[in-house]
Amino acid sequence: VEKILEVKSVKKHFKLGKGQVVQAVDNVSFDVYKGETLGLVGESGCGKSTIGRTIIRLYKATEGEILFKGKDVNRLKGKELKRFNREMQMIFQDPYASLNPRMTVLDIIAEGLDIHDLASGKARREKVVELLKTVGLNEEHADRFPHEFSGGQRQRIGIARALAVDPDFIIADEPISALDVSIQAQVVNLMKKLQREKGLTYLFIAHDLSMVKYISDRVGVMYLGNLVELADSQELYDNPMHPYTEALLSAVPIPDPNVEKRRERIILKGDVPSPINPPSGCRFRTRCPKAMDICAEVTPVWQQVRPLHWVSCHLYQEDSLKKEEAKKGPV
Ligand code: SF4
Ligand code: MG
Repeated sequence: VEKILEVKSVKKHFKLGKGQVVQAVDNVSFDVYKGETLGLVGESGCGKSTIGRTIIRLYKATEGEILFKGKDVNRLKGKELKRFNREMQMIFQDPYASLNPRMTVLDIIAEGLDIHDLASGKARREKVVELLKTVGLNEEHADRFPHEFSGGQRQRIGIARALAVDPDFIIADEPISALDVSIQAQVVNLMKKLQREKGLTYLFIAHDLSMVKYISDRVGVMYLGNLVELADSQELYDNPMHPYTEALLSAVPIPDPNVEKRRERIILKGDVPSPINPPSGCRFRTRCPKAMDICAEVTPVWQQVRPLHWVSCHLYQEDSLKKEEAKKGPV
């Protein structure tokens, strides 16, 4: 399978005053394959939006490399940059805040067409009407304003705007979190349909694990700026390895009544620490039910522990376990 995006040891740190630094994203590495949906989950503040914004160049990475179709996005210039700005699009959590209230739907959706000189006049309107139909709206919606639409319809407008420039990669940052539960599935199903029809690749950022499993081929779990686990979605839900993933999944109800094995609910102690002074070693150690001494001293390595199943945790590093054993001395 072809890699369309490679995120390599990316850090995004924000400087505050007085020498304080927010380590919003730290050493995150993953690939996205052409045509797949990679879900990214984690609690708010875990860095998932920041990594999305860094990939699409709204932020500049502090360290590391992001390759899109093999090219370093931070080095793109001129024509290549323009093409990148077309090929990669973003859908936002709050479709209302991201749509200009003084612009008609026609002009909102046509914005990309204008910027990239893709259509004008009659063709421009025709293209917008076609896009409206693609997302389940119609021509009579074109001359209205965002406030005349429901949340779900507004998100459809946001999707149409993203599609206008014929992208191949879409970063969806919590696209359904602000919507009623009854509407969420409609938007997700629309996104799935568009993906099939247009061969789109999605980076789907969310905090709702059940919806992420439904839409994603693979799922990555973030905690306090780190990617802690990444696997095929079924594999991740069946065999979570990282203690944080185990805890997250223990809170997800299993809809299938035939599943006998209920997960025991794991309640994590304490709150997520600040990304300004994150814990040494493993950032999850202050809340981890399985923490060992080494977890405070050494940062666990991001490694593949089962086929296509990545995790960073000392429990899966033999050398770490040996050191831990040695400390305890002879039994
Ligand atoms: Fe828990 Fe240690 Fe694994 Fe971190 S490295 S998740 S503290 S066991
Ligand atoms: Mg966010």
